[in-house]
Amino acid sequence: MTERLRRHRRTKIIATLGPASSTPEMIAQLFLAGADVFRLNFSHGAHEDHARRIEMIREVERKFRRPIGILADVQGPKLRIGTFQSGRVQLSAGQHFILDMNMAAGDTRRVCLPHPEIHAAAEIGATLLLDDGKLRLRVLRKQGEALLTEVLNSGTLSDRKGVNVPDVVLPIPALTPKDRADLNFVLPLGIDYIGLSFVQRPEDVAEAKALSAGRAAVMAKLEKPQALDNLEAILDFADAVMVARGDLGVELPPEEVPIAQKRIIRAAQLRGKPVVVATQMLESMISAPAPTRAEASDVATAVFDGADAVMLSAESAAGQYPREAVNMMDRIVARVERDEDWRKGIDAKRPAPEKSSADAIAAAAVQVAQTIGAQAIVALTESGSTALRVAREKPDCPVLGLTASLAVARRLAAVWGVHAITAPGVHSMTQAVENALKISRAEGFVKKGDEIVIVAGIPFGQPGTTNALRVARL
Ligand code: PGA
Ligand code: MN
Repeated sequence: MTERLRRHRRTKIIATLGPASSTPEMIAQLFLAGADVFRLNFSHGAHEDHARRIEMIREVERKFRRPIGILADVQGPKLRIGTFQSGRVQLSAGQHFILDMNMAAGDTRRVCLPHPEIHAAAEIGATLLLDDGKLRLRVLRKQGEALLTEVLNSGTLSDRKGVNVPDVVLPIPALTPKDRADLNFVLPLGIDYIGLSFVQRPEDVAEAKALSAGRAAVMAKLEKPQALDNLEAILDFADAVMVARGDLGVELPPEEVPIAQKRIIRAAQLRGKPVVVATQMLESMISAPAPTRAEASDVATAVFDGADAVMLSAESAAGQYPREAVNMMDRIVARVERDEDWRKGIDAKRPAPEKSSADAIAAAAVQVAQTIGAQAIVALTESGSTALRVAREKPDCPVLGLTASLAVARRLAAVWGVHAITAPGVHSMTQAVENALKISRAEGFVKKGDEIVIVAGIPFGQPGTTNALRVARL
């Protein structure tokens, strides 16, 4: 067996695919540059585009014999206004402006807002944010199915701009009919995570999980203040979460976003659920070959905080430098992870084990590995949960997640510190040890004389039974 591709960092990278990155060559290059998971953004592109990208990703996966995760990010209830007669209008602070249900093209006095839920739920005094918050309207009066508003700041408004209503819990589910159609199309093609946008309540996540029926994990995108109020309950249901700073930064004042980011990372970490930091991480690289100092620092902060993954959006999907952006992220992450203070910070934040045999074993494995200077912890994992519990401890050495399931290996591609490998299941501890040693050597993690720590569940082949710990030497 030849040595396969191996990353020299713990924090994972997610790269969004789009017009700038949809050839087999480019996807292979992004993978080699460091992308562990690819994101398909269902706010853009036709079904056939996404299907083609999935095929190309799976081709790269076969070629390099490494599991790659696919995140299908559905748009969710992104609210939008209708269109204008002239494409755009200029609004002035202090003027009145009406949002109604009339499909006719708008002008400087009114435009269609085809969402009865907002009309019903918006209260007098509520603020509506349009075009990512560039234009703010305050509700003065409700007139039947129309909202009379006051324009709070001057600006232009053009066709189909987005609307955010931070003050209001909207009585709408996170899965729109379009999302359902998108998921019904893409789930049978084999994706690993569903990105669920504008989650407000745990029920939203439960609904997506029901639709997925185990075919993909659900990553709840936290981009509404309401989701932060319900964070713990959402974490009960979600398999993973994303700090979706784009919309979160529209709905919350800018100074709240870094605090929310840290709070979400911490809460997810305690649960042992993967957490992704997303949006504008290397934004200026959409049109420049190098990032700003602030962007480099932003990626570094997410790594210091212990996020499982950092994400690129337009930088890799539609920018001029997709490969450079992934490469830059890889360099920043790797550099932070060589810093002594990074390791100290990670150790200091290590959560206490929960009261389960799985956590007791995971914590013990990390201790043992550290004491004897083991080169890897090998987690034999049926459902992925053993590997997740070991990863939660953020050990100093790599975690090899050995699983018989390719789907599980792909999901683990998004998880901090885990190098996932598919291998046939074993039936005895002797066989498990033999396999773990053979594979860790083949993957380049150990050489003659090195030790590994093995974590497994006995009886083998039964998920949720982490109860055994072994040390083995090659
Ligand atoms: P989006 O989600 O890019 O799908 O809007 C991410 C975010 O809002 O940050
Ligand atoms: Mn968003």
